[in-house]
Amino acid sequence: MLKWNNQISDEGLLRLELLDGRALANQLTDEQTLAVDLLKQQGVTPKLVVIMVGEDPASAIYTRNKQKRATKIGMASVLKKMSAETTEAELLAVVEAYNQDQTVDGILVQLPLPPQINEDRVIQTIDPNKDVDGFSPVNIGKLWMNQPGLVACTPQGVMAILAAHKINVAGKNVVIVGRSNIVGRPLAALMLNANATVTIAHSRTKHLQDLTKTADILVAAVGVAHLFGAADVKPGAVVIDVGMNRLDDGTVTGDVDFEAVQDQVSAITPVPRGVGPMTITMLMAQTIEIAKGRVKRG
Ligand code: NAP
Repeated sequence: MLKWNNQISDEGLLRLELLDGRALANQLTDEQTLAVDLLKQQGVTPKLVVIMVGEDPASAIYTRNKQKRATKIGMASVLKKMSAETTEAELLAVVEAYNQDQTVDGILVQLPLPPQINEDRVIQTIDPNKDVDGFSPVNIGKLWMNQPGLVACTPQGVMAILAAHKINVAGKNVVIVGRSNIVGRPLAALMLNANATVTIAHSRTKHLQDLTKTADILVAAVGVAHLFGAADVKPGAVVIDVGMNRLDDGTVTGDVDFEAVQDQVSAITPVPRGVGPMTITMLMAQTIEIAKGRVKRG
């Protein structure tokens, strides 16, 4: 049985705090709707452009969800669909045009791209000030230098969940398993900037369990269902499960075996309803912040 709302307060027993990303995302979405309205009253409609090349079914769902959310909160949203045969030059020309368009705040190119297109070159072509995915080298460099810039949305969502639950990472041992450019690495930088002591683990890490058991905050961003169980987690730890793994029966589950660890951790994100719903929410937040800059510039 999952103890979704079980706050155990008896002496000697751990209180399990469920880090409900969906509830937070809903709350932030309401706030964002008001923020967009305010910007519109000031003459600026935040605008997000999502570019999709080809017909990848998963990408189609992701881009549609982003567009739906943008529309829901009152933002202007463009879904630019390009054929799978699009050349790199054609895509770069489209990106350049949106870079120049003063009414566009955020530009996102949905990955993966067809093989004839170099992803790095495309990401580097997006104006770093409109790079709402935070994937450009300029923004990644700023992040690691602890300078203001645009930051990848999933790691931002993790930090927002922790902040909303008043979980201070300063001085904590944070172990992040996974070193991808979209999750593990930017999250390590955010944690470091928030004064955590950070260890990044990956597929070549030796004695992984010895490491994860030292974590005050364990972040699993691997993509292997139930890779971590009770023996991998320190009693009282906070567990952030970024993993989203589809099982044969169609259900989605995390990298952490929720049922196995729930009696020994102090807080945990469920999957689904944990980190997942925060990613699009952070995308909207970042686009709104860019649009606020347009108001200031007049
Ligand atoms: P990725 O690019 O495949 O990276 C996975 C990382 O896990 C790599 O660093 C890999 O190590 C490491 N790894 C693989 N097997 C391992 C093992 N047995 N032990 C330790 N480390 C291992 O994946 P990703 O894009 O970061 O995504 C990770 C998970 O998060 C996936 O389930 C994905 O669906 C999910 N995700 C969720 C959201 C969301 O919105 N909630 C967003 C993005 C991703 P190497 O570097 O050595 O290969």
